[in-house]
Amino acid sequence: MDFAVIDQKIGELESCIESTIPVRVDEQLHVGVDLGTAYIVVVVLNEEKSPVACAMEFAQVVKDGLVVDYTGATRIVRKLVGQLEERLGRKLEKAAIAVPPGTGEKDCGTHRYVVEGAGLEVTSVLDEPTAANAVLGIDNGVIVDIGGGTTGLSILENGKVTYVADEATGGTHLTLVLSGNYRISFEEAEDLKKQQDRQDEILPVVRPVIQKMASIIARHIKGRDISAIYLVGGTCCLKDMEKVIEKDTGVPVFKPANPFLVTPLGIALNCGA
Ligand code: ATP
Repeated sequence: MDFAVIDQKIGELESCIESTIPVRVDEQLHVGVDLGTAYIVVVVLNEEKSPVACAMEFAQVVKDGLVVDYTGATRIVRKLVGQLEERLGRKLEKAAIAVPPGTGEKDCGTHRYVVEGAGLEVTSVLDEPTAANAVLGIDNGVIVDIGGGTTGLSILENGKVTYVADEATGGTHLTLVLSGNYRISFEEAEDLKKQQDRQDEILPVVRPVIQKMASIIARHIKGRDISAIYLVGGTCCLKDMEKVIEKDTGVPVFKPANPFLVTPLGIALNCGA
């Protein structure tokens, strides 16, 4: 795995949030839809699987991996797809989606219906760590996905997911701590958490929650031969949280430049013809 290559690809995707790379009328496009607890993200790649456009919206329509607001989720996906179609001057037809590992068939079905309800044909349904690993390309180690609601772990051995766990501590808990500490609303705390110039001030306040995440990881990898931890998910954008996790678990931690976009990119990479 070459982190410079991964960071470059993620950087290209990041720049496609604001700008759009032109595509030919006849080229095949690869679309990934990530329905998360905190964000819905839609990624479009061109025929060479390079990012050309990306759109996202903060949304609370999925909880613990389940779609809790079907109509709201479908409306947001349709809106994001419409925006991307307008930006690209092309109709989007097919998409890949992902669900948390261990999601039952019925719940996979609901994710699929949301995306189909928005007018896309679903070509593949992946589990999230497999999607993330399409970008990371690791054979052995643990991918830790810290999103809005949960800390999810997927242990890989020889490129295959052999163990998964998901526990209810995520970015929302960090926001609640900031909200209480600074006596500000949840929304204000969400904004504060993402301010680059306040990161050094925030870390000591939320350290206990990060240590809780580290203890979840440590408990699940105990007794296993884990040589590295790979962080993905929006919460891992927090500056220096990898240092806290490395110190508390004693295992080397790797984090791409923008962990938030790893899984959405990996989903799109798996969109078939
Ligand atoms: P889940 O994986 O739990 O279903 P999700 O897929 O919506 O949720 P992500 O999109 O990976 O999760 O991450 C969302 C979380 O990441 C939110 O709590 C959000 O506040 C947090 N987040 C996003 N950007 C940043 C940032 N720059 N710094 C800190 N936290 C961030």
